[in-house]
Amino acid sequence: MIKELDNFIIESDIELDYFDEVVNHIIENEKRIMDFFKLEKLPNKVRIMILSYKPFKEFVVSKYGEIMDYVSGDSDSKTNTIRILNIADQIKYTTHKDASVERIKGTALHEIVHQCHHVYHNDYRGITWFAEGLATNISNQDYVLKNLEECDFDKLRSDFRHYKGSYSFSYTLVNYILNNYSEEEIIKLYKEPDYLREKANFIFNEAKDWVNKQLNNNVKKHI
Ligand SMILES: [Zn+2]
Repeated sequence: MIKELDNFIIESDIELDYFDEVVNHIIENEKRIMDFFKLEKLPNKVRIMILSYKPFKEFVVSKYGEIMDYVSGDSDSKTNTIRILNIADQIKYTTHKDASVERIKGTALHEIVHQCHHVYHNDYRGITWFAEGLATNISNQDYVLKNLEECDFDKLRSDFRHYKGSYSFSYTLVNYILNNYSEEEIIKLYKEPDYLREKANFIFNEAKDWVNKQLNNNVKKHI
């Protein structure tokens, strides 16, 4: 199946009854995401492939040397290609036993956020947490604030893929940034990796206090 839009070509290697729903979700959210990144148009058309397990796995292993059991999508900056595992195969082969049309729509937006981010740079050393935090927040994926006292920030920065809870901690950190920083500062953070690396410790400590307050308020509200 295939559908071509201004910025995206969406395709699947097998017939999917939710294909149009994913396409429509992309159309509905495209402008919001592009506006966040101050982009009018993507410099290169992005290919979004919804794939079966075999070609998906082959690609992921060739890129990372292994496939982690939670991986359900990938955004490749060199080829401007997004790969997403189809729902049935996510349930069969990954930890996402609750994979659904809603979730795969979120995954598509998540990977589009990465493609927009790649327009500015491709240097994610130590700042994968920020890229993943942006992707999870902007695509409105199903995460909640997590206590950052439990986060080993050095581990999160140095070994994101193997750090359990990395996505939740990243969601929390970037949720703090999006709720407290000016638009100008946020733009600087996604455009300038060195600046972000410099500020990372400061951001982490600020976020820790903010999250504590948020979590305490929530407890009070429920008493
Ligand atoms: Zn991601």
